[in-house]
Amino acid sequence: MPGLAIAGKKVVDVCIVGAGYTGLTTAIELRRKGVSVAILEREEAGYGGSGRNAGHCSPTFSYYSLDKIRSLLGQPWAERLIHRQTRAADRAAEYIQHYNIDCEWVQNGLVIGAMRPGHLPPLEHKTESYNAVGARTRMLDRDEITRITGSPRLFGGWLHEEGAHIHPLKYARGLAAAAIGAGAALYTRSPAKRCEKVGGKWKVISETGHVIADKVIFATGAYTVDGWPGLDKSYRIMPVYVCATNPLSDRARETVLPQNTTMIDGRGDFYCYKWTADNRIVASMFLRGSRGRDLDYSKKVMTDRLKWLHPQLAEEVRWDYFWFGELDMQYRTVPRLYALAPGVVALTGLSGRGVPTGTMLGGILADWAIGKPEQDLDLKVEPLHRAPWWMDYGPSYKLRQMRAVDNFMSKRGGVELPPHY
Ligand SMILES: Cc1cc2nc3c(=O)[nH]c(=O)nc-3n(C[C@H](O)[C@H](O)[C@H](O)COP(=O)(O)OP(=O)(O)OC[C@H]3O[C@@H](n4cnc5c(N)ncnc54)[C@H](O)[C@@H]3O)c2cc1C
Repeated sequence: MPGLAIAGKKVVDVCIVGAGYTGLTTAIELRRKGVSVAILEREEAGYGGSGRNAGHCSPTFSYYSLDKIRSLLGQPWAERLIHRQTRAADRAAEYIQHYNIDCEWVQNGLVIGAMRPGHLPPLEHKTESYNAVGARTRMLDRDEITRITGSPRLFGGWLHEEGAHIHPLKYARGLAAAAIGAGAALYTRSPAKRCEKVGGKWKVISETGHVIADKVIFATGAYTVDGWPGLDKSYRIMPVYVCATNPLSDRARETVLPQNTTMIDGRGDFYCYKWTADNRIVASMFLRGSRGRDLDYSKKVMTDRLKWLHPQLAEEVRWDYFWFGELDMQYRTVPRLYALAPGVVALTGLSGRGVPTGTMLGGILADWAIGKPEQDLDLKVEPLHRAPWWMDYGPSYKLRQMRAVDNFMSKRGGVELPPHY
């Protein structure tokens, strides 16, 4: 998206650093309240996770059950965040409709498959707990999931009717256009290098100019560079790879995810996929061993898994596009709101659910910026702290453990394993 670097001095109420979903929705919410806003972005809108993600909008939490989120966060914080997160797809739909954002939004549901019978009880629990907070979810039996996904490999699964998928960069650019249209000033190629207190205000210094603001919000996620000391240590990076096939035939489209849902196959080494408007399948996985590092091998893993899940897919599958990105992982896997100084906050730790989470965070950050008392915010304000050292190993260890359990239990139960398990 074409944009201009900041030149000279700009005076506003709130300076937002970072033009991803979090920063852009914050700008929109603030403009809706009449607050003046400038956004500083080091590259361009959607340069970070918001422009390169796999496009699944799953209004859920990445790893933890709602019970676990409650025990990790305590009340009232857990219930407030659960409410925001489980309503986040509605919020995305509202932005998309209101600002007429062309981003291939398809809200046909999210399916999580059970790849062995032991996956079913946790999904049943998920159904009860998500429905209890107002989500529209249900269990799928073997026949129904086969019909919805076109895969004969699943023992059943979970359908979240509000799940959706999008073209991520088009969504980010659409939000940027909406923010600009609402009166926010967006400066691209304008890295925030540092902040200084000048009189009662903050001076956010970039290379070609600066912003003077009453309040500053860092929404720089996993792509944080400079800006505030220590912010890039508040999370740990987890790399993900994503790839998109060549355009496939209409026949493939009719038999693989024929209802155009978004899909997580349900194994411990998550394979997520969905269709694009131009008949490509976009699939993603976490890096592991040579998976993600050796391109030819990684493409083979992606093809073999897709064809194993969908044996009817006889045609050639090439991966025309292959790219990497980084997640900002927090040990609780929920976003954390940090008070950096009076009038300055930062938010990191979207932990892989950034499409819905970044979309709903704008409302919380805007509430903070207009002076809502901290105890009434939907996220607890905390002092900035480093992610614990074990986060360097924790998430990848957890994934390895989940995969090992899947492999062991599948073998014990006589369930066929996918290639390269
Ligand atoms: C490969 C990949 C796949 C993913 N798949 C999914 C998915 O399918 N579903 C899902 O829900 N989530 C997914 N995610 C996560 C999701 O994309 C992110 O959590 C979300 O986009 C983060 O949004 P954000 O606005 O917080 O940060 P970002 O989009 O990362 O934006 C931060 C911005 O801040 C800018 N910035 C950094 N430092 C400075 C500075 N000093 N000055 C100015 N600007 C600065 C960066 O350039 C960047 O543009 C995925 C992420 C990746 C990387």
